[in-house]
Amino acid sequence: MTDWEVVVGLEVHVELATETKLFSHAPNRFGDDPNTNITPVCLGLPGSLPVLNRRAVELAMTIGLALGCEIQPSVFHRKNYFYPDMPKDYQVSQYDRPICVDGVLDLPNGTSVGIERAHLEEDAGKTTHLGGEDGRIHGAQEALVDYNRAGVPLLEVVSRPDIRSAEDARAYVEELRAILIATEASEARLEEGSMRVDANVSVRPVGSQELRTRCEIKNLNSLRSLQRAVNYEAERHINLYEAGEEPKQETRHWSEDGRTHTLRSKEEANDYRYFPEPDLVLLNPDTRWIEEIAAAMPELPAQQRENLVALAGVDMDTAATVVSKGLAHLVSTAVDLGANAGRAIIHAVQNLAIDGADNLNPAHFAELIEMEHTGALTATQSKMVLAEMVESGLDPASIAQKHGFESMDSSELEEMVDAAIAENPDAWEKFCEGEEKVQGVFVGAVMKASKGQADGKAVSSILRQRRG
Ligand code: MN
Repeated sequence: MTDWEVVVGLEVHVELATETKLFSHAPNRFGDDPNTNITPVCLGLPGSLPVLNRRAVELAMTIGLALGCEIQPSVFHRKNYFYPDMPKDYQVSQYDRPICVDGVLDLPNGTSVGIERAHLEEDAGKTTHLGGEDGRIHGAQEALVDYNRAGVPLLEVVSRPDIRSAEDARAYVEELRAILIATEASEARLEEGSMRVDANVSVRPVGSQELRTRCEIKNLNSLRSLQRAVNYEAERHINLYEAGEEPKQETRHWSEDGRTHTLRSKEEANDYRYFPEPDLVLLNPDTRWIEEIAAAMPELPAQQRENLVALAGVDMDTAATVVSKGLAHLVSTAVDLGANAGRAIIHAVQNLAIDGADNLNPAHFAELIEMEHTGALTATQSKMVLAEMVESGLDPASIAQKHGFESMDSSELEEMVDAAIAENPDAWEKFCEGEEKVQGVFVGAVMKASKGQADGKAVSSILRQRRG
């Protein structure tokens, strides 16, 4: 029996977070009414001319530099194909001279994956098939086309076939997503299609260096689908080889029934009749511009994780969760402003959504943690106030006041605890003898006296101080 090894290379299309499209002033916005964000350039109407979006180039170079790529002079080509979602019947893309080449992405487990290239191109529109099964074209009665997405700037990041497991394929996409979030180059949402993953999968006998026939799997719109599809496809190839057959090079579609299906046999480059886009010049960013982008590079995920571990004393997995949610900057800024690191981490992990800090001022976040720390807010109240801060962008004190979460300073709380001790001498004696469960008597009394405003943990720490 042969031992087999999986060989995976990933192509990830990333929608760049620009205000407008790659070659026109039409808005680049997800979720608007169909066919409202369109100009003659998006449709390739006669006489219309493309104008390259400076911000898109800047974001492409930011991602490229974050991946350690070399930025080189690049050329736009027309990639011709006839598809209803492509109003011009060609896509403007980069072919043999992409803007970024030769980078590397290091996975958190230490594996390095080479980046072959990353090129700029425009997105196609979106076709919706009705009347068939599962929204697929097969058996559909009608097709609706929305050109809002046509011309949206994409960076296609192409890895080398350096990935050796489905888990590493997933880790690669997670790390790339974390980089996109850290650099704010893309919203990077798989479920909204602002990040789309295609996987090239083949297998080979362990120890061999050959690259065997690969299949490209499309429609991987979640990390789970990616992982399942890689495993399924590798298994399919192994079964073919062991039965004395060979897989055919083709493009396959992943469906959630847990299988891949033939979509089309793989196109050759010459099917696309690439030729240089005559309406655009060579893209040759000057060195100073590239240096400026490199100098403005924010802290990248690997560094963010290390800093969080050092700053908050958390483990690497917890740090990775905070970083992948795009909350590292919020937490570290709040801690720099004096917030308790442990509480900041708990809020980031448990009480904030991905990108949940968009509306959140780090200084307000630090104030909230301080209010919790001094006992002005209980943990439950703090969570409620935080949710409202995210909604409204307001400061925690005014939200707490609105809800009647009156501030209770520590001397006020200590007085209440002392009163509860004085009222319950028998229980106090037992507590001093080490009977922990009578603590509830005091906590209950303080809660009652404070009308539920007191923080149970603060009460118990005062009790322990008094016991000595
Ligand atoms: Mn592409």
